[in-house]
Amino acid sequence: ILQVDNLTKTYASGGRELTVLHAVSFGLQAGDTFAIVGPSGSGKTTLLGLCAGLDRASAGSVHLNGIQLDNLNEDQRAAVRNQHVGFIFQNFQLLPTLTALENVQVPLELRGEKGAAKTAQALLERVGLGQRGHHYPAQLSGGEQQRVSLARAFANRPAILFADEPTGNLDPDTSATVVSLLFELNREAGTTLVLVTHDLELAAKTQRVLKLRGGKVVEDYRSAVVEKY
Ligand code: ATP
Repeated sequence: ILQVDNLTKTYASGGRELTVLHAVSFGLQAGDTFAIVGPSGSGKTTLLGLCAGLDRASAGSVHLNGIQLDNLNEDQRAAVRNQHVGFIFQNFQLLPTLTALENVQVPLELRGEKGAAKTAQALLERVGLGQRGHHYPAQLSGGEQQRVSLARAFANRPAILFADEPTGNLDPDTSATVVSLLFELNREAGTTLVLVTHDLELAAKTQRVLKLRGGKVVEDYRSAVVEKY
């Protein structure tokens, strides 16, 4: 479902070039659960953004659900994202002008599903936000917004979900809820999970862990044992 080959990203900053990813390669099958770990600044979020079609690589290629992203323009990449991809990102998730309920309901309506409002309400209840449907994202805490994003992912049942530090800044209970919902989505809808995390307990729950350091893959674990970096 995701094939990444020799992916390299170079940023131009202050007249100098900074390569933050060096020839990263890996492949995932549909339904896999995958974590990207590594110290701050190692390139995790950059890699996630390239895999999800939010940004373009400087060299190398990304195939997402059989579609090569590298030569697509932003509109074409947005179309691929809308069709195949779910997101749990800090700054790229909910539509601020829609309520929590609408954020979950709209994708269902766009797909022409009947009873979208009822389904959306049920999904909000499932993530523990049944009473908050009429609130706008700005009126919800970070953890609540994460859970609305998850309700939306349950509505969309995307082929693949990219989550950037899904448990970052969450209290232990909310964090546990978010993690169990992520894996429920994987089991129920077969959604492939790609998680960037500093949470090694969460990483150890996935089937495979890629460890980055300085933009390079330093380890690629297939077992669930992750050592501290
Ligand atoms: P963290 O765990 O702190 O979120 P990360 O592993 O996700 O870190 P990235 O956010 O991918 O790291 O950043 C990797 C490197 O790329 C960093 O040195 C960062 O400063 C640099 N970088 C990221 N975005 C840009 C940009 N738009 N322009 C220039 N440099 C950037």
